[in-house]
Amino acid sequence: NLNSRVKLNNGIEMPVVGLGVFQVEDGQIVIDSVKAAIKNGYRSIDTAAIYGNEEGVGQGIKEAIEENGISREDLFITSKVWNADLGYQSTLDAFELSLKKLGLDYLDLYLIHWPVEGKYIESWKALETLYKTGKVKAIGMSNFQIHHLQDVLEIAEIKPMVNQVELHPLLSQVELRNFLKENSIQVEAWAPLMQGQLFENETLLKIAKAHDKSIAQIVLRWHLQNEIVIIPKSVKEHRIQENANIFDFELTTEEMKTIDTLNQNHRVGPDPDNFD
Ligand code: NAD
Repeated sequence: NLNSRVKLNNGIEMPVVGLGVFQVEDGQIVIDSVKAAIKNGYRSIDTAAIYGNEEGVGQGIKEAIEENGISREDLFITSKVWNADLGYQSTLDAFELSLKKLGLDYLDLYLIHWPVEGKYIESWKALETLYKTGKVKAIGMSNFQIHHLQDVLEIAEIKPMVNQVELHPLLSQVELRNFLKENSIQVEAWAPLMQGQLFENETLLKIAKAHDKSIAQIVLRWHLQNEIVIIPKSVKEHRIQENANIFDFELTTEEMKTIDTLNQNHRVGPDPDNFD
């Protein structure tokens, strides 16, 4: 269920399903999404400074804690340092600003959002500093390719715990996933539903019918069975529920293989090697 967690390489447990809030407007919309998710059992929220909604996310968290009789410690909150803030001191400052906007006194996970050439090493050192002070329980990166990770691993005092990358059946990232596994770094998928572009797929439709599930649920289940952490985004409560209702069935080995054949190395987002 939604309490399922994976143990990161430092022993911290991360929920396998969370709510993503990219492109969710700050204010009441994001407050309501966060509250709907937590009410329906979600315990993990993924935001970023650049999403511009950390204040609303924080307000949603605050209200949800009050209304659902849970505590801050039950939740797993992720944010990310934006490209413009990369560098040692600027990353430390960006972290403090995110904490302040979220109204929290610690984060569960803080990520370097993109591997901007020549800038991510200093930010990694800042994340290590933050980790040592206990202000963040786990640190990692997003959109890092193998060669970026190798750069960081060379100098890292603290091993990254998570790499969040675009990952879905059309971009299955097998090579990167293998590298992460070998290095005990948890893979987390952004755009796990390919931002809504998989819902006409005939192969997925057939599997969905066989299980009396939606394509979204089939795809999310494929992630879970591949031990990939997911953060599907929706602002609609019935979809937030639907995306969490994936623990009562299992895809067969054959079905998993069939979905694996859909890979086309096709990105919906930017290429991490050509992005700043
Ligand atoms: P997603 O794959 O989660 O797709 C979201 C879209 O799919 C929604 O807009 C909604 O219209 C649709 N949808 C969701 N559930 C549905 C359902 N059950 N049925 C039908 N349609 C449904 O895409 P995403 O939002 O880009 O990715 C998820 C999260 O990952 C983001 O919200 C964000 O937190 C994170 N993210 C991170 C990065 C990064 O660079 N690190 C980039 C993009 C997104």
